[in-house]
Amino acid sequence: MERRFARSDAPLGYIARLARQRWRSGSFPRRAGSSSASATPSVQASDEKPTENPTPSRSPKPLPPLSVMPTRILLRSLMMTYILSSPRLVGLSIPIMHRISYSKSWFLNPDRNPVLHGIVRRVFYDHFCAGENEAEVKKTMATMAKMGFEGVILGYARETLVEKSASPKDNVETSAADIAERVVKEWKEGTLQTLAMLGPEDFLAVKLTGAGPAAIEAMTKREAPPPVLEAAITEICDQASKQGTRLWIDAEQQVFQHAIDTWTIDLMRKYNRDGRVLVYNTLQAYLKSTPQNITRHLQLAQKEDWSLGIKLVRGAYITSEERALIHDTIEDTHACYNSIVRNLLSRTFPGVSQDVEFPHMQLFLASHNAESVRSGYEIWRERNEKGLPTIKLEIGQLQGMADEVSCGLVQMRREMMAVGGNGSEKVWYPRAFKCLCWGKTQECIQFLVRRVVENRGSLDRTRFWLDGLKRELWRRMKTSIGLD
Ligand SMILES: Cc1cc2nc3c(=O)[nH]c(=O)nc-3n(C[C@H](O)[C@H](O)[C@H](O)COP(=O)(O)OP(=O)(O)OC[C@H]3O[C@@H](n4cnc5c(N)ncnc54)[C@H](O)[C@@H]3O)c2cc1C
Repeated sequence: MERRFARSDAPLGYIARLARQRWRSGSFPRRAGSSSASATPSVQASDEKPTENPTPSRSPKPLPPLSVMPTRILLRSLMMTYILSSPRLVGLSIPIMHRISYSKSWFLNPDRNPVLHGIVRRVFYDHFCAGENEAEVKKTMATMAKMGFEGVILGYARETLVEKSASPKDNVETSAADIAERVVKEWKEGTLQTLAMLGPEDFLAVKLTGAGPAAIEAMTKREAPPPVLEAAITEICDQASKQGTRLWIDAEQQVFQHAIDTWTIDLMRKYNRDGRVLVYNTLQAYLKSTPQNITRHLQLAQKEDWSLGIKLVRGAYITSEERALIHDTIEDTHACYNSIVRNLLSRTFPGVSQDVEFPHMQLFLASHNAESVRSGYEIWRERNEKGLPTIKLEIGQLQGMADEVSCGLVQMRREMMAVGGNGSEKVWYPRAFKCLCWGKTQECIQFLVRRVVENRGSLDRTRFWLDGLKRELWRRMKTSIGLD
């Protein structure tokens, strides 16, 4: 049964004041304009190492969220965000990145041309990607942990290559079925390798189309996964279950999504038992049908007594999706996203019986939208403060994006924990994550092109991120020369 948060868990009146103060001071930045309320800094500038966990205090001048970011990363973020906020520079970068990401020539392949490799790594890769091998990924994860993130979500960036290779090994493959099976096995190995880098607080990100033609064909035909794929998914989930690492299945285009939902619900039925939420499905709020789809998920979980894991996104395929399936305006998408969050955090949902207990579930908000993050956090906090039933909330953004939002969440949790307890089961506060991808430089550039294109429509927001980074750099400069 979902626990009611008792008033005695923490000095909640103080936490509420702290949250409101943080809110006003910009720990959760509002959209451009309103957050320039700019927190007045109260302590030292950060150096190359991440700033120490700021001592929780009742100071009316809290540190700004970006104070947890090492200066090296702050400078790199500033440069990348400057590029992303300029339509002209984005327009120039996309064709170059596209060319690099699919080129077979030695000269344009960053994994073969060492000079290009060095440039691409410094300019794009290191900002958005975790590393090319386990040692580099572990180093990035350690930096995130020092900044205060509870864990990471890690995905393998490699795109599936379905064409026939000319290598001698591949010459013995006689049929498309052999190739499909080989691709599933490669996908499984890459995913297990990714899983091996993760710990119990982390998430594994799984993209099913990455398993290649066998997965794509079955999903398009709305069939069950073929045996080789089913065995691979089972092996991945069994291993995740053994090490206690949660996993989410990414949402993709609608042509695949019926099968993705069905397969993922089957996994939740199997693995999300006895109050444990191991597997999460991704729901896309830009689809008109998503509220009904969530009702269906909740009804099944309620009837069959398993726990539901939902990762809520707005949706990344607006340019390739059938437009009629998607809300008519971005405002409708925002309203849909925010009302789903409000309902789930209140443990009510249209179409779900109030006579039977609301199913046990956990919610992950994957969004860069500061308003949605802020309002989700506020609802959770208010309910917690009033001792009303709610659910566990976690929030995450992509590496290299929305850092002020992410760092604000880290800071908020630290301060709540300093007052209310250590964030154990008894005293639980929303957690902040960064979502990382890893892989060879060329493989990751393909991932980056998608992110840059996705971000193209949000230039106002990117400029807002840029303002926050500039403010933090200016604060550190003033502090270092004793002006602050
Ligand atoms: C950690 C993480 C994991 C993610 N995983 C997935 C995933 O598995 N599957 C997936 O599909 N996406 C995924 N995304 C991407 C996500 O769906 C969004 O594309 C992206 O995060 C931008 O949305 P936002 O919530 O940050 O907010 P905003 O930038 O405020 O919203 C932009 C979004 O609004 C919607 N939109 C834009 N214009 C219109 C319009 N005219 N009408 C209606 N709607 C519109 C689109 O969904 C667009 O992406 C993920 C994002 C993150 C941060």
